[in-house]
Amino acid sequence: MSIDVFNNFLNESSKIVVFTGAGISTESGIPDFRSPTGIWTKNQPIEFREFLSSEEIRIEFWKRKFAIDATISKAKPNSGHIAISKLNKMGKVSKVITQNIDNLHQNSGISSDDVIELHGNTTYAKCLDCEMKFELELIKKLFEKTNKPPYCNDCGGIIKTATISFGQSMPKIEMLRAEEATLSCDLFFAIGSSLQVYPAASFPIIAKNNGARLIILNREETDLDKYADLVIHNEIGSFLSENLPLLS
Ligand code: NAD
Ligand code: ZN
Repeated sequence: MSIDVFNNFLNESSKIVVFTGAGISTESGIPDFRSPTGIWTKNQPIEFREFLSSEEIRIEFWKRKFAIDATISKAKPNSGHIAISKLNKMGKVSKVITQNIDNLHQNSGISSDDVIELHGNTTYAKCLDCEMKFELELIKKLFEKTNKPPYCNDCGGIIKTATISFGQSMPKIEMLRAEEATLSCDLFFAIGSSLQVYPAASFPIIAKNNGARLIILNREETDLDKYADLVIHNEIGSFLSENLPLLS
C-alpha cells in the first residue's frame, strides 16, 4: 500500500463519505463482534423475533445491555474518531454513515446532522408500538428493582433500546439519507467493519458502482476488498493520526 496513493485519493476528493463499523471503537475499549476478543466469543446476538417472543429473553437482553453500558458510558473518542472529525471540519467528509450505536462520532465533535446511524443508538430506549422515548436511567432503576423487562406506561407496548437488532427492519429515514450520501460522494471510505452485515455492507458497492472510489481500512481482510481501489490493513487510530498531517 502506498501512502502517496492514499494521500492523492484524499486530496483529489471533495465529498468523502466515511462508513464505520465496530472496529473504529475498539481502541476506545468497546469490543467489536468478530475479533478474537469480540462480543460474539461470549454471547451470540439476540435476534429481534427472539426478543419479541419471550420475557425471559428480554430480561437477558436488558442484563447484557446494562453490562456493556458500563463500558460504553466510559468510552471516549479515540484518535481514529478525532481524525475523521478533523476531515469533517475541513469540509472533506460530508457524512459519516455508522453501524455503531455508541455515539462516539457525535462525541468527537461531528454534528449529529452529519452522522447517519444505520443501527440506531444505545443511549436511549423506545416503545416498539407508539415510539415514545424513554430515558435509560429510569428503566435501569425499575429493572434492578423488579427484574422485569420494561413496558410502555402509555400504551403497554414492549420497550427496547433504540438499536436495530438482527432481523429488525432498518430505519427508513436513515437508509434514505445513507443512500443519498453514498450516491453523491466521490470517495467512500470504509473503516473498521468486516463488511458482512447487510444491508449496511451494500453501501460500499453502491458507491463503487456509482463511480466513486472505494478505500477500505481494516486490520483484517474483508469480503469487499476485491472491489476497493485501495485496501489498507492497519490499525485505525495510529494509521489515521499518523497519515492525516500529510493532507494538503
Ligand atoms: P465486526 O465486529 O464484524 O468487524 C469489525 C472489524 O474491525 C473486524 O474485521 C476487525 O478486524 C476490525 N478491527 C477491530 N479493531 C480494529 C482496529 N483497532 N484497527 C483496525 N481494524 C480493527 O463489526 P461491524 O462490521 O461493525 O458489524 C457488526 C455489528 O456490530 C454492527 O452492526 C454494529 O451495529 C454492531 N456493534 C457496534 C459496536 C459499537 O457501537 N461500538 C460494538 C460492537 C458491535
Ligand atoms: Zn407505547
